[in-house]
Amino acid sequence: MGSTLLQKVWDLHTVRRLPTGQTQLLIGLHLVHEVTSPQAFDMLRLRGQGVAMPERTFATVDHIVPTDGQLRPFLDDMAEQMTVALERNCREFGVPLFGLDSAEQGIVHVIGPELGLTQPGMTIACGDSHTSTHGALGAVAFGIGTSQVRDVLASQSLAMELLKVRRIDITGSRPPGVYAKDVILAIIQRLGVNGGVGFAYEFGGTVVDRMTMDERMTLCNMSIEGGARAGYVNPDETTIAYLRGRRFVPIGAAFERAAAWWRSIASDADTDYDDRLEINGATLAPMVTWGINPGQSLAVDGRVPREADVPAGDSAGVRDALEYMGFSAGAPIAGTRVDVAFIGSCTNGRLSDLREAARIVQGRKVARHVRGLVVPGSKSVAEAAEREGLPEIFRAAGFEWRAAGCSMCLAMNPDRLNGREVCASSSNRNFKGRQGSPTGRTLLMSPAMVAAAAVAGEVTDVRRMLPAGETR
Ligand code: SF4
Repeated sequence: MGSTLLQKVWDLHTVRRLPTGQTQLLIGLHLVHEVTSPQAFDMLRLRGQGVAMPERTFATVDHIVPTDGQLRPFLDDMAEQMTVALERNCREFGVPLFGLDSAEQGIVHVIGPELGLTQPGMTIACGDSHTSTHGALGAVAFGIGTSQVRDVLASQSLAMELLKVRRIDITGSRPPGVYAKDVILAIIQRLGVNGGVGFAYEFGGTVVDRMTMDERMTLCNMSIEGGARAGYVNPDETTIAYLRGRRFVPIGAAFERAAAWWRSIASDADTDYDDRLEINGATLAPMVTWGINPGQSLAVDGRVPREADVPAGDSAGVRDALEYMGFSAGAPIAGTRVDVAFIGSCTNGRLSDLREAARIVQGRKVARHVRGLVVPGSKSVAEAAEREGLPEIFRAAGFEWRAAGCSMCLAMNPDRLNGREVCASSSNRNFKGRQGSPTGRTLLMSPAMVAAAAVAGEVTDVRRMLPAGETR
């Protein structure tokens, strides 16, 4: 019987079994940002400890940075203090920092793969839930809390329970207008937001095989929203082509040796998974969330559920969501008026996301009542988009083109909803108050769908705006 990638990587990184039954797991790459690290560094200082492996630790600023004018000191004193703290901690503990003065600053889950820090077969930890993103490259990547950030800084290891593996195959091909975001929203809708608890999700099948690395990152990014601690795609030729030439990746013969090893850690063909799910890609449609968790979603031509439509145990959740969102049970989701359109985040703030959204808005105008923001996931993404003239397309349509950061994904910065505004968002969480207003409402969807909603001024089916004869 063969092994999964998860099992192979786990075995290779096991330091020892702990008396608790957990595994002490060596962490190959620790990514740090300004929000979850200050107390962890303070704890090291109190104990007189250093960072165990600063050469395997990299930091950036993303959550709190303003995206509209980044002159220092920031107007927000708290943001300035957090940035200063990270700069001081990185200097004192010898951790490389991709700060605002670096051309490589950006959202931590965007810059890791972009720089080639993220590589197949690695164990990766970061104090942010969406660390699962890095699994797109065949890494086993976990989001951790502040006390675990301290543990990894101090010991380069984590106490972890071995996960089960659920293989999720997306077979056939995707219809036009269906993106990786729609695939993962559909998976979470079927399995539920707790369906992945105790599991890592291994994504495969022809639809995933044909996805670009950017798309695989979107898929793995939201594994955590389905309750899975990690999500990954087995490394293949797409992975290897993506990594070749990136800054932290070996070159020449060393790259070929690394690539051979990366291929070898993919799950074996005769692996017996703990669970399996298969979805026919042809059945998928553009998705929109209607509720207050990412599992409460439906196809864009669908209707908001009634309490009677769901199992008895779910009816209270539906009632709560309908009440918060102000939606009528049974109403079509298409036609819901939106006030804000946000394109960005570690889920969908990469170059290919911006390209797809630009294709939709090119030659069109954002509806007069909509505030549209495009926020690149990193400075590198912004520069590449600028070389292609994407900011001009967005600005001509009426969007604001911003600097790199997390922005309105969680609004720990000035980009936030006001009052009960409805936001068409390419981010990953639609929890109550997630985008900065305690009563703000978030509709998750693909960047192309956000672009279409911005133009229409309401939720609409992006397939109507695709160029004629479109096959993507
Ligand atoms: S974009 Fe959102 S989910 Fe991603 S790292 Fe930033 S705050 Fe976290």
